Amino acid sequence: MKFPPLVTLVGALSLVAAADLPAQALSLPNGAKADPVPVISAANILARTRHLSSDEFEGRAPGTSGEDKTVAYLVAEFQKLGLQPGNPDGTYLQNATLVGITSTPTLSFVRDGVTIPMTVINDFVGPSSRLVPRVEARDTEVVFVGYGIVAPEFGWDDYKGVDVRGKTVVMLINDPPVLDPATGQLDPKVFGGRAMTYYGRWTYKYEIAAAKGAAACLIVHETGPAAYPFGVVVGSWGRENFEISALDLNAGNVGLQAWLTLEATQRLFSSCGQDFAAAKTAAARRDFQPLSLGARGSFVVENELRNVASRNVIALLPGSDPHLRDEYVIYTAHWDHLGRDPRLPGDQIFNGAADNASGVALLLELARAFTELPAGQKPKRSILFLSVTAEEKGLLGSRYYAENPLYPLNRTLANLNIDGANQFGPTSDMAAIGFGASTIDDIGIAVAAGQGRKMLPEPNPERGFYYRSDHFEFAKVGVPSYYPKNGRTYIGQPADFADKHVADYIANRYHKVTDEVQPDWTFEGAAQDAVFLLQVGWRIANGDTWPEWKPGNEFKAKRDAMLKK
Ligand SMILES: [Zn+2]
Repeated sequence: MKFPPLVTLVGALSLVAAADLPAQALSLPNGAKADPVPVISAANILARTRHLSSDEFEGRAPGTSGEDKTVAYLVAEFQKLGLQPGNPDGTYLQNATLVGITSTPTLSFVRDGVTIPMTVINDFVGPSSRLVPRVEARDTEVVFVGYGIVAPEFGWDDYKGVDVRGKTVVMLINDPPVLDPATGQLDPKVFGGRAMTYYGRWTYKYEIAAAKGAAACLIVHETGPAAYPFGVVVGSWGRENFEISALDLNAGNVGLQAWLTLEATQRLFSSCGQDFAAAKTAAARRDFQPLSLGARGSFVVENELRNVASRNVIALLPGSDPHLRDEYVIYTAHWDHLGRDPRLPGDQIFNGAADNASGVALLLELARAFTELPAGQKPKRSILFLSVTAEEKGLLGSRYYAENPLYPLNRTLANLNIDGANQFGPTSDMAAIGFGASTIDDIGIAVAAGQGRKMLPEPNPERGFYYRSDHFEFAKVGVPSYYPKNGRTYIGQPADFADKHVADYIANRYHKVTDEVQPDWTFEGAAQDAVFLLQVGWRIANGDTWPEWKPGNEFKAKRDAMLKK
C-alpha cells in the first residue's frame, strides 16, 4: 500500500450481526457441515516476516537484486509447499514489464510579467509519466477546476464546458463535501457522504485531466483531505517512479502530474488577486464555475528512463472438482517495498516488515494450510496465490495481472487481498475496507461470527483505503474483491491498545527504515485472520453461487458485462 495500511477506528460504529444476513451467506456451501479449521502457525508467520524483512532482501524494491532474492524465495517456498506453477507457461512467474522514471521537473508561473517561482520539493513535487526523456509546455493558461470531477450520477461537472486542452489545471484532492440541507451533514447520497469515492483519488484526478487534454495537472495538497502529510508525497514521488511499459509511451497522460503544497497554492492564488479559501468553498457547490487565474504556467520535465522486467509470482492449487477447477479464487499480497535509499546516513534499508513482509508471510501460511486440508475438504475450485510486484509504485503488479490475466477474469470468482498482517494478539472484531461493496462481505460476516468476531464497517471511509491496495485493480476490471482487516478490540488488552500501536506505527515506522520486526510481535492475530481468510476463500471455492457486486456499486456494470460474454 502506498499509504498507511492500518485501520484506525473512531466512535460508535453500527455492528452488522450475522442475524441480518441472507441465508446463503450463513449457510455453508453444498451442505458442508462446517468450515475447515486449519492449524495456522503464528511462529511461521513471524519467522517468514523476519526473514523477508531482513537486510538481506534490501527492502525488496522492484528491479533490484532485492527483487531477485525475494522472487527466488517465493518460488522456492511455493515449490516446497507442493503448489503448481501458477503461470500456464509452466513457471511461477509473470513478467511485468515496467519502466522506471526519475523525473526532474521545473515549474513556474507568470502573471503580468511577474514570475511566481516554484521550487521542487518545497512547493511542488511530481513526475511526468510520459515514457519520453523530455516533456515541456510553455505559457499555458492556468485554470482552477475545483475538484475536477465529472460525475453524471451526481449531476456534477466541474468543467461546465470549459475547454482545458493544453492548459494547466489546478485541482482539489478528495471529493466535494456536499452537505444535505436537511441535516447539515455530509449527504450520503452524493459522493458517498463521508466515504471517499474514486473521484477523490489522485489517480482519478490525473486520469480526468488527461482525458480533458490538459498539459499539466496540479493537485493541491492538504493533509486532511489527502489523509497523509506532504512528506509522504515527497517520499513517494520525489524518487524513481514506475509505469507499466506502454506502446504509446503514455502519450495520452498529462505532461506533468504534480502536487502543489497548500502554501504554494495560496501564494499562486494571492499573486493572481484570488482568495484560495473562497475558491475552495465555491468548489463544494454544484454550480461551481472553473476559474482562470490569469497566470501562465510553464514546465519542463527531464525523465531518466530505464526498462525493468519485474515479476509477479504466482502459484496454483488445482480445484478438486473436475467441473469447477477451471474457476478461480485469487489471494494477493504484494512482495515489494521501498528498497534502499543511498542518500540516507546510517540505516538505508526500508525493510517493510509490516508493509508487506507480514502479508506475504500470511499468504504463504495460508497456502500451506490449503495444501494440508483433508481429502473431504479440498477446495473444489482452483486457488491462486499471487504475490505481486510494484504495489508501492501505484498498484502496478496487480494492474499488470488484471490487464494481462493468466486465467479468464470471467472465470475468476473473487480476489482476496492481504496488505499488512496483525502483528499482535487476536481481536474480537474485524473491519472490511469498502464494506458493503459485494456479497463477499456477507460471507465475511458469517465467517467472522463463526470465530466469535463482530464485523465492523470501514472506520475511515473518507481516507479511500479501498482504492489503495491491490484488490482495487481487480475491482476496476470487475472482479469482486475483498480487503478485510483485523479489528481493533484486542482480547485481553486495554481499550487504547490499537490506537497506541497505530499511532506509533504511522509516526515512527510507516514507509521508514524503521519498519522492522518489533520485540512484541507475536502474529497470533495474523493466525486468527489466516483462518478467516481461508474459510472465506474456501466458501467461495466450494459455493454454489458466485460472489456479486451489490446493486449500485461502481464496478457492477463491468462485471455484468463481462459475465454476459
Ligand atoms: Zn503495502
